[in-house]
Amino acid sequence: MKLCRFDQNRIGVIRGDQIHDVSAALELLPSLRWPLPLGDQLVTELDRLRPEMERLADRAQPQPLAGVKLLSPVANPGKIIGAPINYNDHIAEAMSDQTIAHGRDLKSIGETGMFLKATSSLVGPSEGVAQRFVDRRNDHEAELAIIIGKSGTNIPRDRALDHVAGYAIGLDMTVRGPELVCFRKSIDTYSVLGPWLVTKDEVPDPGRLDLKLWVNGAIRQNSNTRYLVYDVPRLIEFTTSYYSVQPGDIIMSGTPSGVGPVKPGDVMTVEIERIGRMEVRVRAA
Ligand code: MN
Repeated sequence: MKLCRFDQNRIGVIRGDQIHDVSAALELLPSLRWPLPLGDQLVTELDRLRPEMERLADRAQPQPLAGVKLLSPVANPGKIIGAPINYNDHIAEAMSDQTIAHGRDLKSIGETGMFLKATSSLVGPSEGVAQRFVDRRNDHEAELAIIIGKSGTNIPRDRALDHVAGYAIGLDMTVRGPELVCFRKSIDTYSVLGPWLVTKDEVPDPGRLDLKLWVNGAIRQNSNTRYLVYDVPRLIEFTTSYYSVQPGDIIMSGTPSGVGPVKPGDVMTVEIERIGRMEVRVRAA
């Protein structure tokens, strides 16, 4: 199932190029009282709500996808987790370009660990990227995003996919510079998730997906998730060897080579096999 959040927080099921409004399924969510449990409530309840969503989608009057505003499919992630250097060709380009490396000695992902991005940085494709520090280099990083479906900690790799709800396209936008990664990558709108969440049953092998990004129609990144240094199960194992994950947590799995600058007015197009394609505009903040 392809599930999106659109317009004024409507929930839709995507079939072909049509969207089926299934927002009525939200009535099945339990009402919550403070303090809220960690995690995104809709992702937490997704397995329980899914049959009702499929039923509603069968009966809904479809509308063209082209006419809606796509928001981040996860509304309230507890964490956005990033993998800093997880494709060898990106490590090589970063080490040969001081604008990226900035004097840092980029070691392996195992030595560097993961980073966190502020959840306030998250937007959907239709909201676009509002670029700050336009005089500095701001780069696109196209990434496979993993959406956690089930809580866990110390998850072994052979059970890691049991904890996945699905996948989406992630853009890990970055202003280059000497500041800490979590600071530079947490600017409002610098985490884009879309165009929808694809449940894992539609992605039998997340380690074999073509991934491409164009800027204004010119291809910049073109790779496949088979080149991930830590694949999806290992990323979950590694991350949860340090901390727990909850439903709705997003892991951006790292970017291949070809990262490069964007400026206000640019349009990024990102495509991942089996997930889809999204367009994201860049404007000045
Ligand atoms: Mn990244």
